[in-house]
Amino acid sequence: MIPTRHYAGERVVVMGLGKSGLSAAESLRASGADVRVWDDHPAQLAKVITNGFTAFDGTRPDFSGIRALVWSPGVPHTFPKPHPIAERARAANVSLSCDVDLLLESQPNAEVVGITGTNGKSTTTELIANLFRCAGRKVAVGGNLGTPALHLEPLGLGGTYVLELSSYQLELVPHLSCATAVLLNISPDHLDRHGGMEGYIAAKRRIFESQRSPRTAIISIDDDISATLCTELIADGVHNVIPISGRQSISGGVYVEKGLLIDSTSSQPITLMDLKTAPTLSGIHNWQNAAAATAVALSHGITTDVIVSGICKFPGLKHRQELVATVGNTVFINDSKATNVVAAEKALLCYENIYWIAGGRAKDSSIDSLNPVFPRIRQAFLVGESAAKFTDHLEDHVPYTLYEDLKAAVKAAGQAALSDKNPATVLLSPACASFDMFENFEKRGDCFRNEVLSLWPPEKVQS
Ligand code: ADP
Repeated sequence: MIPTRHYAGERVVVMGLGKSGLSAAESLRASGADVRVWDDHPAQLAKVITNGFTAFDGTRPDFSGIRALVWSPGVPHTFPKPHPIAERARAANVSLSCDVDLLLESQPNAEVVGITGTNGKSTTTELIANLFRCAGRKVAVGGNLGTPALHLEPLGLGGTYVLELSSYQLELVPHLSCATAVLLNISPDHLDRHGGMEGYIAAKRRIFESQRSPRTAIISIDDDISATLCTELIADGVHNVIPISGRQSISGGVYVEKGLLIDSTSSQPITLMDLKTAPTLSGIHNWQNAAAATAVALSHGITTDVIVSGICKFPGLKHRQELVATVGNTVFINDSKATNVVAAEKALLCYENIYWIAGGRAKDSSIDSLNPVFPRIRQAFLVGESAAKFTDHLEDHVPYTLYEDLKAAVKAAGQAALSDKNPATVLLSPACASFDMFENFEKRGDCFRNEVLSLWPPEKVQS
């Protein structure tokens, strides 16, 4: 656990008692702060109080004598409507921060590589960490994935925190100072939390604020919004900008062209490897992730041999185009993390003859942008709140059936794919959030995996 000693003897409120809030409360308490906790869910608050924490009165918030308010990024504070506790704190000049901010304050000597973007953050974060580890560097990985920030290892000088940073977190890190900041892409997402697209872009752009020397800004040019930000950063002349792309050549950057990973940061473009041979990084979107990770590694002096070997050995992540099983001619892929339409489109582009399981709580108003990939989809198996809405878009393009739950859809999709004479892919890539049917995308992906393995157990399939 990382101590937060600069708050010793100070009164600090922790708002939201999920994983990150609890971890912050524990670190602050262990470091001698006078911690007060609050959660809008009485049961969650009661559980934490039982563990010896003192409650803050969130029904009548009084910020006199309070040094800091550590806010859980998942809890809305400004949009869709201001949270009364956040409003009172601001009125009392107490700024909102989050556990990642406490980490940055407590570990000022460690270097920070921050990664953001609408899609691909976790994959790129883990890939960067993998390259650093392959190079023998001391790293810890966290932020918006895995271990909560304050439960990471204290690294100090010579260490690097590789942090996935969501737009929610970026609004809550006043001490952000990345040596290297990465923006992968921007498409509409979480707009209700940012008051619209402008607010969402402003949150993402924060990753480049107050950067620490050498102020390396790695930014994709593959979508118009990111490309514009890239041009602006170059014009500002403050950052050392490295543009990246998963699909087009750029001078002075790192890019992928027809699968070839190319470093053009020095005078002559150098081909590093053919990414089509990287087992866990298929598709142009993953090539974008690989280009970004390579740019980070190069800018940290990691050799190209280590980069190539690290990319080849990258194990990939669960729930992101994860191969669950191969049964005869059919592969079963778990892409439960594809919670928006852009993410699902990228996965659909990687396969042919797809038996597509989709649906959940829709974040996007339409799936019309998937029209070009419809010919790849043999049949759609729809679940969740969005199912009826999806049928309007699929009508006349893709045969579909609605199912009561994910298990029923998996069974039907698997049986249909297995009776296909041609090689087929059963792909769970929902294009929706999971919250209508599951606690989170991990539980949804686990349900898919368990159902596939129980219906087609590997030992039976082999015999
Ligand atoms: P995030 O952490 O930003 O949600 P992940 O790395 O977990 O991103 O990937 C989530 C899903 O987004 C994947 O399952 C894949 O379908 C898609 N994806 C991954 N990388 C990209 C990218 N660079 N651009 C667009 N979609 C992507």
